[in-house]
Amino acid sequence: MTTTTASVDVTIAQIARGQVEGEVCTTDLVEAPWTFDLAMPSYGPGASMADPIPAASPRQGELPEEYRTASTLELAARIAAAKQILGSRAVVLGHFYQRDEVVQFADFVGDSFQLANEAKAKPDAEAIIFCGVHFMAETADLLSRPDQAVILPNLAAGCSMADMADIDSVTECWEQLEALYGTEPDADGRVPVIPVTYMNSSAALKGFCGEHGGIVCTSSNAATVLEWAFQRGQRVLFFPDQHLGRNTAKAMGIPVELMPLWRGNKVGGGNDAQTLTDARVILWNGFCSVHKRFTVAQIDKARAEFPGVRVIVHPESPMETVDAADESGSTDYIQKAIAAAEPGSTFAIGTEINMVQRLAAQYPEHTIFCLDPVVCPCSTMYRIHPGYLAWVLESLVRGEIVNQITVPEDVAVPARVALERMLAAKPGTTMAA
Ligand code: SF4
Repeated sequence: MTTTTASVDVTIAQIARGQVEGEVCTTDLVEAPWTFDLAMPSYGPGASMADPIPAASPRQGELPEEYRTASTLELAARIAAAKQILGSRAVVLGHFYQRDEVVQFADFVGDSFQLANEAKAKPDAEAIIFCGVHFMAETADLLSRPDQAVILPNLAAGCSMADMADIDSVTECWEQLEALYGTEPDADGRVPVIPVTYMNSSAALKGFCGEHGGIVCTSSNAATVLEWAFQRGQRVLFFPDQHLGRNTAKAMGIPVELMPLWRGNKVGGGNDAQTLTDARVILWNGFCSVHKRFTVAQIDKARAEFPGVRVIVHPESPMETVDAADESGSTDYIQKAIAAAEPGSTFAIGTEINMVQRLAAQYPEHTIFCLDPVVCPCSTMYRIHPGYLAWVLESLVRGEIVNQITVPEDVAVPARVALERMLAAKPGTTMAA
């Protein structure tokens, strides 16, 4: 295992040129993202590469040639100049998993929900350039003012996990569950099942939760949200990430046997009626291709090579990995744990490589490395390249809005209800709250 303070892009280029030792998950990572815009629909090179992309996913058109041929230095100068002209009229938001070459221009860096709230906190901004993925831009649109334009620099920057649960499949599942459970509350007033969607989902699914007595959660507040749901329902239908659902419910004391997996293309999700009746949490069969790469074997290796290492993994990792780690927590948790540690600490981190390498550069007093020895960034986040950022910013300077993400009002209204329930949920909230 190696630690590095270079950006992921630089590391990938160095590995490709044989200048440093290391392994990348695909040599296609050295290709520019626009190579894939007009080719076969895909998430592009990186961790989600093998996941099938839904037919309805947005497609990015051809990036104008001047942005494809400009050097990194020229693009940086053009982005800086456009930002200077736009001033407070435009705010650039960068997700933790975004490449450094983009993040350096971000006015705020954070997780999806922190960034959506930053969008809301910038009343002067006419345009919010969201350097993240599609569901994050949708959430920013839900929380921002109607006259603010949310822009996703590359429309092909989706999220393979979010795409694993679509509104039609979830509606079909819901109808089957209603047919089995009915809709009548029990003697304690709890309905048969409450839908809970992870933030990493389409606005349509957030709207579904809003309409069906459900709620949204993040990786920071999943336990509080599940507690909220169990005060109102006998069971939870949790989508799209099975791992976050399982890890959170298990930590709350729910036996794993009472958390059947729902496979979208099978009757009963592949479960018999008794299993679904006994269930406490029905887990959608979704996962994050970045976080499923973290394994118990990697943790064992880290402990053998770095005695005393502190292993922290994201709760989107498989249950066995979370169980073998010292701690699990959201990106915010990981960052705060490292910031609070004694100098000279050693951390093996199970989350996306761009964030881990940035933390390693930010905290040189510690040894920080990614649990996965293979350099394999989030392929969907990787679709945002400085060329696209320069294009959307210079278009704004010309008065042109490109790649605007707009959630239709009939979806936005119930989606906001589900988000507001999340914001109001507090540990120990009562039924009446
Ligand atoms: S890291 Fe995983 S969950 Fe996050 S955007 Fe990438 S694919 Fe989606």
